[in-house]
Amino acid sequence: MAFNSRGLVIVVSGPGGVGKSTIVDALVKRDANLWLSRSWTTREQRSGEAPDAYKFVTREQFEQHIADGGFLEWTDFLGNLYGTPTPSAPEGKDTVLEIEVDGAQQVKQINANALLLFILPPSRQEQKSRLHGRGDPAQKVEKRLRKAEDEEPIGKAIADYVLINDDLGETVNEMSRIIDFERKKRQT
Ligand code: 5GP
Repeated sequence: MAFNSRGLVIVVSGPGGVGKSTIVDALVKRDANLWLSRSWTTREQRSGEAPDAYKFVTREQFEQHIADGGFLEWTDFLGNLYGTPTPSAPEGKDTVLEIEVDGAQQVKQINANALLLFILPPSRQEQKSRLHGRGDPAQKVEKRLRKAEDEEPIGKAIADYVLINDDLGETVNEMSRIIDFERKKRQT
């Protein structure tokens, strides 16, 4: 598999509503050596969601890409398919994947050197209000919360670092420190 990227592979995972995409966007803006992979999904684009948040595709297109061997990992998350296309970070850059727990497990199996940062919400209440704030119907929010409860223990068990996203700025600072440390560790 074309995944022997010489750069670091950083997997940012965590239950829904924890603020992963906001964190990852801030991280990538700050560190020019990071390259964010854009996932494919069969989920519909949310109203107000950036058109490049994902590559939005049909189930047929997604399944064809699976058949072509085009994904590093993919999963079914509450009825929609999500997948990381085989990464192609520009030379010298480290790859960032923002994915759920099943995908994180798959990446760890393929590449034991991948760095897995697992993010937890400061409280269930905070997580709930973030999920509601996206405008999803209440029933969907409940499903996502139940899924989050299943994801947490697995994520904690396989993570290299577990962070609590109490304060966005602090979380991003902490992640930057971890990434710098891990880069140095891998150079020695
Ligand atoms: P959402 O529908 O909220 O954008 O994403 C649902 C979940 O799928 C989130 O936990 C998100 O991190 C995860 N996700 C996004 N892209 C991928 C991907 O390429 N692979 C996997 N396994 N999960 C993904």
